[in-house]
Amino acid sequence: MPISDAVILVREGRIQALGPANEVALPIGATQVSLEGLFVTPGLINVHGHVGGLAAASADPVQEVRAELERYARFGVTTVNSQGGEPGGVQGLRHAVFPSDAGAPRARLLMAGSVVAGTTPEAVVAEVDRNAERGVDWIKIRVDDNLGTTPKMSPEIYRRVIEQAHEHELPLEAHLFYLEDAKGLLAAGADLIAHSIRDQAVDADVITALLERDVCYVPTLTREVSAFAYGETPAFLADPFLAADVDSSQVEEVMEPARQAQVAASESARAYRAALDVAQSNLDSLSNAGVRIAFGTDSGPLGRFQGYFEHMELSLMVESGLTPEEALFSATRDAAICLDRGDLGVLEEGRWADFAAFAAAPWDDISNTKTLARVWVGGNEISRP
Ligand SMILES: [Zn+2]
Repeated sequence: MPISDAVILVREGRIQALGPANEVALPIGATQVSLEGLFVTPGLINVHGHVGGLAAASADPVQEVRAELERYARFGVTTVNSQGGEPGGVQGLRHAVFPSDAGAPRARLLMAGSVVAGTTPEAVVAEVDRNAERGVDWIKIRVDDNLGTTPKMSPEIYRRVIEQAHEHELPLEAHLFYLEDAKGLLAAGADLIAHSIRDQAVDADVITALLERDVCYVPTLTREVSAFAYGETPAFLADPFLAADVDSSQVEEVMEPARQAQVAASESARAYRAALDVAQSNLDSLSNAGVRIAFGTDSGPLGRFQGYFEHMELSLMVESGLTPEEALFSATRDAAICLDRGDLGVLEEGRWADFAAFAAAPWDDISNTKTLARVWVGGNEISRP
């Protein structure tokens, strides 16, 4: 519920008090920041992003990932759950952002380490153990045949991965495409569905399985967009909100004529365009059925612009049938629940002071998230372009 004329009292990075101005006593000497005319929400939490994927050749991957987290934050994304493939050495960037950790303020990072793959129980168990040793937040697997082009991880193997993840008390997040795999993974104990079910309409069985353990479902609709949009030059590349803060080398790469021709002619681009329709209709069905939807984009790889794609994702969620308020809850309160982070996602006493201020209320019209004016993470203001 929005509060008019509100005051948020922040101390040591956390919210100490919050309420209407006449109910919050300000300590003597407190620094006051006026947000007059702005509308404040908790910072956006991306439950499925990636960092450092394009940094492989970089001399300093940690610096690269830090820069990506700074960009996410400039777009109002204050926490990123990176679902695997982070470069080595970035574990030190997990979580801590208050006080600002020897660098510019940035988004919080959670990570999965290497995406567990393998064809024998011994191999996958060893990989889960290595990731656990590295101190990851999640174990990630992919159960997909990439439109019939690659072998899919077998149920025997993914069951073993899930068992071993749980042995380390780590939750399991699963990339998938097919309804039947969702059912198998849920029965095996998977803790997060990391993409939309995109081959067919969801049914009562999968809804029951999701609801039974309150497993969160991450639509990543923009991931589908990125698979076909660059068959031409999409209109969003000219969006000033993107252009103001974009890795221009990526824009050049996706606008390359030879690459566009290849995407335009590709079977998989067509298939993923159709998959987006299925994904949007499934999102509507699952949301109506009360399944907890966790906001996520799969941003990070080439052409999935970190920060910007999160705003596009919110719009696509609303286009799918969610209200702006439901989309925002999915990206804040519910995302925090899905990540088991009771210290994030809601503006209330005791939680981290991660919030975004907009010139127009995003709960009235979701495209108002592009009026983003100011962002704080752990009480640190992010400087925006
Ligand atoms: Zn991903």
